[in-house]
Amino acid sequence: MGRAGAERDDGAHLARRPPRHELADLVPRQSLGALPVTRDADAFTRPYWDAANQGRLLIRRCHAAGCGAAHHYPREFCPRCWSEDVHWERASGRASLYTWSVVHMNDLSPFSGRLPYTAAVVDLAEGPRMMTEVVGCPGFALRVGMDLYVHFRPGGADGTAVPVFRVFRPTV
Ligand SMILES: [Zn+2]
Repeated sequence: MGRAGAERDDGAHLARRPPRHELADLVPRQSLGALPVTRDADAFTRPYWDAANQGRLLIRRCHAAGCGAAHHYPREFCPRCWSEDVHWERASGRASLYTWSVVHMNDLSPFSGRLPYTAAVVDLAEGPRMMTEVVGCPGFALRVGMDLYVHFRPGGADGTAVPVFRVFRPTV
């Protein structure tokens, strides 16, 4: 019976599929081409990018009674207690290296232009864990727990600075 049903299939269901270009319209434009260096800043994230352009790393801290948790990436509510009493705060810029991976192949611009690079996850001194890059140090010299310090690299076509990290070398 299933076979007979298949023979009667006139293919109408295929015609109902949306054309490929309609599917593409549903996908954010940035994800179709090269990955953006920074996300588009909106009213909420604008202070973060403005501060980065001035050489300051911002995190968010909850001011709710009994909480006080800091977080990153920036959210409009506290991921610990869900309070909306959350405010921008300048981070010290100090961090320690949690993990990393040296990337030797990536066809996507702008990453393809700076291979190899070190994708990393760092623990900010204030507590939040952050995805970033470590620059200025070969991968073989990196160690878990290394002290790092934020550095701001001019980014994409709009010139937005992107926070990355260098190995911290005290000047003593
Ligand atoms: Zn909280």
